[in-house]
Amino acid sequence: MYDVIVVGARCAGSPLAMLLARKGYRVLVLDRAAFPKDTVSTHYVQPSGLARLRRWGLLDRLAGTGCPPITQARWWFGEDLSVRGFAPPHDGVDSALAPRRTVLDELLVDAAREAGAEVRERCTVRSLLRDDDGRVTGVRFQRRGREHTAHAPLVVGADGRNSLVARETGAVKYHERPPLTVVYYAYWRGLSPDRRHLNEVFLMGDKQIGVIPTHDDACLIQVARPHAFYPTYRSDIEGHYHKAIAEAAPALARELADGAERVDRFRGTADLGNFYRKPYGPGWALVGDAGYHKDPLTGQGISDAWRDVELLADAVDRVRCGAEEWESALAAYARARDARSELIYEFTCEAAGFDLDPMTRQLVQVVAAHQEDADRFFGMIAGSVPAEEFFSPDNLLAMLGRLPADALAELTGPKGM
Ligand SMILES: Cc1cc2nc3c(=O)[nH]c(=O)nc-3n(C[C@H](O)[C@H](O)[C@H](O)COP(=O)(O)OP(=O)(O)OC[C@H]3O[C@@H](n4cnc5c(N)ncnc54)[C@H](O)[C@@H]3O)c2cc1C
Repeated sequence: MYDVIVVGARCAGSPLAMLLARKGYRVLVLDRAAFPKDTVSTHYVQPSGLARLRRWGLLDRLAGTGCPPITQARWWFGEDLSVRGFAPPHDGVDSALAPRRTVLDELLVDAAREAGAEVRERCTVRSLLRDDDGRVTGVRFQRRGREHTAHAPLVVGADGRNSLVARETGAVKYHERPPLTVVYYAYWRGLSPDRRHLNEVFLMGDKQIGVIPTHDDACLIQVARPHAFYPTYRSDIEGHYHKAIAEAAPALARELADGAERVDRFRGTADLGNFYRKPYGPGWALVGDAGYHKDPLTGQGISDAWRDVELLADAVDRVRCGAEEWESALAAYARARDARSELIYEFTCEAAGFDLDPMTRQLVQVVAAHQEDADRFFGMIAGSVPAEEFFSPDNLLAMLGRLPADALAELTGPKGM
């Protein structure tokens, strides 16, 4: 009998297991994968996420894997319109990292084991076990073709956006938006050394391109298109990938043509729904993508998972210590998760929808022209400037006040209303 069973051992599952094991709980983690194993995901980790890793004692270990710190960002919103800068430090962390998931996820699995959690790989959970009242009491899983069961008063689904735990418990979805994009990416070597610490993003018409430096002197380059483009994109991934780069980022296309080498195959997905799920019920909880998933454009998923893992570990501990009832502790977890993510969720959906509204476009002009606003914009995405502060009416009015008079008139006149 365990205290907690966690299904899934990547960004959400292993840190949750680590934190609970450090508090003295008996934790079993099951994953169908064997690590190190890659997954379809780009991997820009925000300074706010890295600040958590440092608090957990893991940041130096990750930095020591040779992943270059990212200290500059440049986002293009048009041929002549770009925002440059970087987020203000988050709890003293002044850079981002984009570690390969083979490296990051294995490091997290190791940390869970070191904390005392039992992590079992190549174990596929097939169903949940319940008592007569319907309360979840464990899992049935398969390893090497044989069926096993494990029991615990709490089963946590950290099993990704297509979570079995969510499906079996009927966890209700809300704030749902359809998938907005389809993304393919590949790794490249031989790009300009100027890219070593730079995250460049192009949001041009119906094309989004991101360039992210990672391990092994390589850069990940991702190309997202509207979701409806998926069948066409899939019919010729390489052709459409390069065509989009040539049209939206011609200088980058020249760099690729000028001796850069693709070092891995193309990967991608169109399975990018946007939703929250109610993250708890009798005997079960959800964390990470299983409970809250959004388009990857703003690179929030990993850092969000780490934030929510801390919230959930605290809630579980309060219940187990008898300090709080299950319903009130877990409802507070759900509220905190939603409150901390709702504004960036809205912004992500807007930006991923390839259709910025007129006010956002004007704000981009302000942000591009004022360095302090630019850094605060990147800080909002990085989690070092609270989104509610950045999007507060006072701040938006102050930024709009920095617009030239004619642009402001256009926005507030009959056409812009
Ligand atoms: C194309 C793309 C780009 C992205 N880019 C970024 C980015 O730049 N920055 C960022 O922060 N986030 C990014 N994300 C999001 C990020 O990948 C996720 O938020 C993050 O992986 C969530 O971690 P997780 O542990 O919740 O789920 P996952 O990483 O999906 O892990 C779930 C684990 O559960 C296991 N599992 C599932 N079902 C079972 C079962 N039945 N039995 C046993 N094991 C099971 C799986 O094997 C897997 O290991 C991107 C996502 C995509 C798809």
